[in-house]
Amino acid sequence: MRRTRVVTTIGPSSWDLDKLEALLDAGANVFRLNYSHGGPEDKTELYQRIRSLETKSRPTCILADLPGPKLRLGNFDGVKLLKSGDSIRLLCGQTHHEGKELPVEYGGLSAELSVGDSILLADGLIRLTITAIDGVPDSNIDCLIEDGGPVTSRKGINIPGTVLELPAIGPKDEAALAHAIANDADWIAVSYVRNAEDIRPARNAIKAAGKHTPIIAKIEHPSALRNLHSILDAADAVMVARGDLGVEIPLEEVPLAQQQIIDAGLMRGMVVIVATQMLESMTLNPRPTRAEVSDVSTAIRHGGTAIMLSGETANGNHPILAVETMVRIANSTEKGLLSSGVKPGALSKFKSTRAVAHAGVELARLSDAKHILVATEHGNAPRLVAGYRPDCAVTAVTNRLRAARRMCLIPGVASVIANEHERGSDTMLEAISTMRDNGSAKVGDRIVAISGSPQAMSGATSTIRLYRIESDGSISGTE
Ligand code: PEP
Repeated sequence: MRRTRVVTTIGPSSWDLDKLEALLDAGANVFRLNYSHGGPEDKTELYQRIRSLETKSRPTCILADLPGPKLRLGNFDGVKLLKSGDSIRLLCGQTHHEGKELPVEYGGLSAELSVGDSILLADGLIRLTITAIDGVPDSNIDCLIEDGGPVTSRKGINIPGTVLELPAIGPKDEAALAHAIANDADWIAVSYVRNAEDIRPARNAIKAAGKHTPIIAKIEHPSALRNLHSILDAADAVMVARGDLGVEIPLEEVPLAQQQIIDAGLMRGMVVIVATQMLESMTLNPRPTRAEVSDVSTAIRHGGTAIMLSGETANGNHPILAVETMVRIANSTEKGLLSSGVKPGALSKFKSTRAVAHAGVELARLSDAKHILVATEHGNAPRLVAGYRPDCAVTAVTNRLRAARRMCLIPGVASVIANEHERGSDTMLEAISTMRDNGSAKVGDRIVAISGSPQAMSGATSTIRLYRIESDGSISGTE
């Protein structure tokens, strides 16, 4: 089973039902819905369409990516071509404008900038220098176009070296978050995190809704690199968001920042998603460049647990081919990859569950077990087991579809739906019988089962059992 998870961003090239199904068949594990584009309510039907593809043995997983305190251009029709050497006026505080000027949503921008500052548009492709600012707030900013290029509605604006006074969760994020929670997103990504406090509003909103949706911290700002460890202690997973990171810090520093983020995630046994421009040329072409193939493989070899496609699957010409290509690179890389040997060390959360998880992984290694089964209510225990990177297959045993869906982003973890019995051992025996009957566990296999007690899923994780499937198909085990 492939351990590395493939995250696909859904957009016009991939949001039809047949395309979504083809992405799943090609090996996509997670669908990312980017709330920076379109209104939240536009996505309601997409959630339903994705869920309609779900079967008991193939849960679907939706990652809701919040817009975050990121500056964006307002709306306008078509493509504007900015020519190097020309001037351009930015109209601050305007959500929509047709004309030769560019609308900028954030009215307070001019108050935070000075003449001579640089403004980058479209992931740094276009560079402007401010020549004049006329009044604050909601003023005009006149700029010289240093490096021109095409620009479309809602493109990102970066002001490197500036920490803008925007709240972590603004009105747009609040609406996106409420929509994602109401529609049962399986993971929620918080964009432009600057410090651990920026995670709190999303966590509070999820708790207030009575849910346990795990949070992904997107690292894309220099402040987040400075506060990396406290941010990861507050989050459940991390994304190396190289698009904005590569504009906010010098491009040549991105590879080392990527490694720093991966290592900090590995220390905690976390999911680490490496994102953006992984197979960028496949947005247009059917084959990737050698450098892109190497980039994807390097991300996996250095410890990334998930690799993400953005424009390639959202707007590209070859969304299915892009997923197939990622899957092939992941399979080929994993074949030559030994277990990384990095063990989670920064144990800030779930300490006793982590200790049991670690012991279970060690028992599996010493007994040459083929499977580790982990009972779970919300998906935390399998996540911690996967963090110790066992060499055998890991299966989450749960009676909740929600927990099974979350597992799609956890490296190397499958799931089985089972009933919760009075005795934890009966729950695990039911799961092993299911696996024996569907052929995923075979005669002679040893199986380590990690569960709670007295009940397997709802009790605190405390119990490890070792089972074996005997030649007559019966299941023997320790009690
Ligand atoms: C990124 O910047 O790399 C990223 C994943 O974020 P977004 O696509 O939301 O800008």
